[in-house]
Amino acid sequence: MLRDKLIERFTVVPGSKVRLKDFPTGFDEADEDLRRLTKNKAKEVAADVLEQNRAELATAQEMLYADDRYSVLVVLQAMDAAGKDGTIKHVFSGVNPQGCQVFSFKKPSAEELDHNFLWRYMKSLPERGRIGIFNRSYYEDVLVVKVHPELLDSGNLPDERRGRKFWNDRYDDLNNFEKHLHRNGTTVIKFFLNVSKAQQRKRFLKRLDEDDKHWKFSAADLAERAHWDAYQQAYEDAIEATSTEHSPWYVVPADDKWVTRTMVADIIVRRIHTLGLRYPTLPPDALAKLEEARAKLEAE
Ligand code: ATP
Ligand code: MG
Repeated sequence: MLRDKLIERFTVVPGSKVRLKDFPTGFDEADEDLRRLTKNKAKEVAADVLEQNRAELATAQEMLYADDRYSVLVVLQAMDAAGKDGTIKHVFSGVNPQGCQVFSFKKPSAEELDHNFLWRYMKSLPERGRIGIFNRSYYEDVLVVKVHPELLDSGNLPDERRGRKFWNDRYDDLNNFEKHLHRNGTTVIKFFLNVSKAQQRKRFLKRLDEDDKHWKFSAADLAERAHWDAYQQAYEDAIEATSTEHSPWYVVPADDKWVTRTMVADIIVRRIHTLGLRYPTLPPDALAKLEEARAKLEAE
């Protein structure tokens, strides 16, 4: 596991003012103690920690399933090319596919827009015993929609519900939604993969340079990059308003993929450990039935 102090540095304290500039985007500045390691050495250590945590996560998921009281919702938010897909692939590669579900949220459909904005996310929540991964989430409704408020025009919201308090009301909705999930046994773990503008540029250029990465490039990504500052502001506002005791935000460096993956895996494992999961114990009559079954099998 990583050190508690390191994780604390990337956890958004509920009620605190959030400035993304205060959070490092890559390894070099990541931690005073880490700076003593060379980058290569740190990378090696991180690979080991990730490997251990992958195994831990597989066991934790099995416990979650056997225990059958809690579920885990992992929310991944980020600017384009920050590495959401790669993080999911690397962190969850050891987990039983039956125990986890990934949902990616794109522009809402006409049917989705005909409902309240939380409807489509509600439908995709993980059942007890499962880990649900939201690749983008209900936070888009206070991020992309806040940066492009004209998106609300297609939603048929009544005009009188689009007043001055609109965004604060939405943060309230999200906090209440997550409180509801928490009270019902769902642990929400929220990550913002914090990539720098310079690193995004590099990754976009790589997508253009390499034939097998062309499919990943979309002109729309470039259009959104032009709104970089507005997105950073929207993220700061959203993270500040919705980091809570039971569902804090983790602002994870995303310029170095190995840092992102190691930290995300570590945080998920830690959070599952706090649930105090246990394998169910059988009542005495059920245990007696097991003994009967053993006797029958042994007598064959
Ligand atoms: P990748 O590019 O790696 O495939 P992605 O998550 O960027 O993954 P895209 O299909 O490129 O997927 O983009 C999805 C788009 O849908 C994003 O621009 C996102 O902002 C937008 N989107 C998601 N939720 C909403 C929403 N509630 N309202 C409007 N737009 C949304
Ligand atoms: Mg995209």
